[in-house]
Amino acid sequence: SKPIVAIVGRPNVGKSTLFNALAGEMISIVKDTPGVTRDRIYADVNWLNMQFTLIDTGGIEPESKDVILSQMREQAEIAIETADVIVFLTDVRQGLIDSDAKVADMLRRSNKPVVLVVNKVDSFEKLMPDVYEFYNLGIGEPVPISAASRLGIGDMLDEITKHF
Ligand code: GDP
Ligand code: MG
Repeated sequence: SKPIVAIVGRPNVGKSTLFNALAGEMISIVKDTPGVTRDRIYADVNWLNMQFTLIDTGGIEPESKDVILSQMREQAEIAIETADVIVFLTDVRQGLIDSDAKVADMLRRSNKPVVLVVNKVDSFEKLMPDVYEFYNLGIGEPVPISAASRLGIGDMLDEITKHF
């Protein structure tokens, strides 16, 4: 069966935007339970001659802010259990925060392949200096993208698929 790639990251870093960019334009977002956002969380992705199943682990997330860390831990556990490759998505505008480091520790200990992706790098020229901070997570070289502008997506997919 196809490899499974899971996206893990804090609320608002751009998981759904990246998911939709990779899955195409036909994704619907459904809000049906108060306090819960339920996105479509699985998609089939084709890249060059490769295929994989993509999971947005944030597809079901409480909107309360005081549970972000526990929610991220839960997402990371789901990803570690089910995925062949984990995309850890961060946000260059919010920068590196404590919960990112805690989740990075969990991912590192899992021994699963992790691709560290830094989103919202809308201008590589202006924002690359801010990307280097993410080396401090100790999970490898940060891959800059702009999910909204679809910059860096090809290089990111190369980094993901080389673990298949
Ligand atoms: P999620 O909570 O991680 O699923 O994040 P969303 O995909 O819902 O995105 C959160 C916000 O970040 C939205 O307002 C998006 O439009 C915005 N966003 C996502 N990707 C980018 C990007 O590459 N650049 C910028 N500037 N904003 C982005
Ligand atoms: Mg989302």
